[in-house]
Amino acid sequence: MNIIMMGAQGTGKGTVAGLLKQGLGLPHISTGEIFRKNIQENTELGKMAKQYADEGKLVPDEVTNEMVKQRLNEEDCVNGFILDGYPRNTNQAETLDNILAEKNTQIDLVVNLNTPQDEIIERVMARRECPKCKRVYNMILKKPKEGEICDDCKVALTKRADDTEEKLQTRLDTFFKETTPVIEYYRNKGIVRDEEISISINRFGEDVARDIINSIENK
Ligand code: AMP
Repeated sequence: MNIIMMGAQGTGKGTVAGLLKQGLGLPHISTGEIFRKNIQENTELGKMAKQYADEGKLVPDEVTNEMVKQRLNEEDCVNGFILDGYPRNTNQAETLDNILAEKNTQIDLVVNLNTPQDEIIERVMARRECPKCKRVYNMILKKPKEGEICDDCKVALTKRADDTEEKLQTRLDTFFKETTPVIEYYRNKGIVRDEEISISINRFGEDVARDIINSIENK
């Protein structure tokens, strides 16, 4: 099964994708995470991506599409995958369709997460990451057991470089301008599942993931 996670920054795509990975046994492919790893390791791809990621802008499509194509050719994707953070514009969505058509497969499900905008800003500002194991915490929603220390690695958590109010605004602007048409692209194919995810209605990533897994298993 091939799944795409859609939703603005901070809606919980990564959390839901991680739970779907456990429940469905599919690889979780986060393009943001691949770029961050390359930036940290100072690879050629990382050096190129850094200038865009630092400003909260999208990395050029040729680079991103090629990177995704290579990742989807890896062996762990033969039974499907969960894409998180890709596609981010209609060019990427069309390219993905072509990549999958060559493999005689297609996207089966697009999970579209919606969170009120004021909550998005709060969630992103409260996000912390373990620099070692990359586990993501949230100082409001998913606190570590002690202070700002990773439960597993016992190292101080850090904030993502692009999780500042200014950069978040640029990223959200790009999301509403370039990425919302992608949701419509998939809506026209009848494969979008809309999900509200918000403290105000007491609905969290765990609830969304559980419902998706149940509906897939009961099909
Ligand atoms: P994310 O963790 O998904 O918010 O991504 C972090 C950064 O990585 C983004 O602000 C972009 O600079 C880059 N990035 C991630 N996914 C894509 C994509 N599909 N297309 C272009 N750039 C991306």
